[in-house]
Amino acid sequence: MGTSTSSTEKNLSICEHLIGSLNVPIISNCSQCYGTGFIYENYSRKMGGYTSCSCIAGLCGQKVCLPPYEFYQPEIRAMKPCSCRSIRSTVRKIQYLEKKAYIPRRYKGFFLDHIRLDHAPASSGLFTALDYAEEIVSKFGSQEWNPKGLYLYGGTGRGKTLISCAILNELLRFHKISVRFAKINRDILRKLRSSFNPNSEIYGEGLKIEEELAEVKVLVVDDFGVQQETQWVVSVLYDLIDTRYENNLLTILTSNEPMSFWKETAGGRIYSRLQEMCREIHIDAPDYRLSFRDATKTEEQC
Ligand SMILES: [Zn+2]
Ligand SMILES: [Zn+2]
Repeated sequence: MGTSTSSTEKNLSICEHLIGSLNVPIISNCSQCYGTGFIYENYSRKMGGYTSCSCIAGLCGQKVCLPPYEFYQPEIRAMKPCSCRSIRSTVRKIQYLEKKAYIPRRYKGFFLDHIRLDHAPASSGLFTALDYAEEIVSKFGSQEWNPKGLYLYGGTGRGKTLISCAILNELLRFHKISVRFAKINRDILRKLRSSFNPNSEIYGEGLKIEEELAEVKVLVVDDFGVQQETQWVVSVLYDLIDTRYENNLLTILTSNEPMSFWKETAGGRIYSRLQEMCREIHIDAPDYRLSFRDATKTEEQC
């Protein structure tokens, strides 16, 4: 149990540090939601979601507060929005953004402070990646620091997807921006291919799919690589990366291959773009996919 206590303390400090640098409105001194008014709750292993924290009931002063969260004020003879209304609409916005993010269930509600570094060797790249992830989250949207890309590579199960989803979750809950997770083959190439098929239910929607991926504020492209390099695949990937770069939008790529792998692909076009826009970090940590749900459990108990 000793380990779990120390990792809880560590978790809190990372979280507080982030909140301090983010100008998130703090509405209470609640330790469960860090005063933000909302939490991520895991109802079961398969279900979870953002919800308003119990501490916001204290804002209302009402026994029961129901939509549209207004109450009659006799002094002004009119309805007045309850003090809880703005936080409730924030929660709805976060819920909506999460729905559109397509983050895999196992990584939903997984945050940077759930990643435990206790047993990670210094050479694992995990410390570097986490520092950079925190920098992205704390400085996101600031004028002077505007990273366009992060390229995480390493073997399967090393924590690349975990870290990139934690970044998405942090950006979503604290900056309330549109984020999106997409696996290169399943969610991008295969979908675009079937948009050419008249029998497919997404027939003709290729452009819409490409636009969505090109416009979302932060995109994770998971398993970045190509099974079969064709001119079409190369041009889809290049156009996506290039459009996002031109639009000043952050793209996070995870891959089993180092960035130099792309030197030989497509005459190096993709490689030179990646080099311009991405910080490259090699992750070689122990298998982090297996242990993270324990950390979530610790937060549930708080
Ligand atoms: Zn609270
Ligand atoms: Zn209320």
